[in-house]
Amino acid sequence: MGVKVGVLALQGDVAEHIAAFREALADRSGSSVAAVRRAEDLAGLDALAIPGGESTTISRLIGKNGLYEPLSEFEGGVFATCAGMVLISDRVDDPRVRPLSRIPMHVARNAFGRQVDSREAMLEVAGLAEPFRAIFIRAPVATDVGPGVEVLARIPEGIVAVRSGRHMAFAFHPELGGDLRLHRMFLEGLGV
Ligand code: GLN
Repeated sequence: MGVKVGVLALQGDVAEHIAAFREALADRSGSSVAAVRRAEDLAGLDALAIPGGESTTISRLIGKNGLYEPLSEFEGGVFATCAGMVLISDRVDDPRVRPLSRIPMHVARNAFGRQVDSREAMLEVAGLAEPFRAIFIRAPVATDVGPGVEVLARIPEGIVAVRSGRHMAFAFHPELGGDLRLHRMFLEGLGV
């Protein structure tokens, strides 16, 4: 059966998420990947990606577009990267972000300090046989996670990959770099 994925398209690296999920679903007929801008676009989706970008801006646009309640209540799995990880949390160190509270965790924005804009690391991720080349761009980290949240990867700065039910969140960008193992892990977890 096909999988219907939406990508929240308010700001950020939307096109890269659409391309990565299209590639990950290329061999599953009946699948679709589409941009989500309005509450109606969420209907019938199995999953939603919340992209990297600027979490303060995306949060403001979520409010402006009337998407806060629909996103808080969305029943599919959420695949959140970087700014998305900030938004899907329930506690953020920046009052300008109103988190969607889908994963109980505290997230610190820009946790690598101002000097370090981006960095790559070969990361051990629980469930992957080989390390993942993780691309961090002005990345957040989770500093603690609530009950039921599985930590999939951590680095000295903090927790950088988690799973909670059908949701997954990453401080780095699995949609960049061409390695789709984390997309596949997420899609398998949807049980569609
Ligand atoms: N620093 C950004 C934020 O906190 C996230 C950066 C990114 O998504 N690449 O919103």
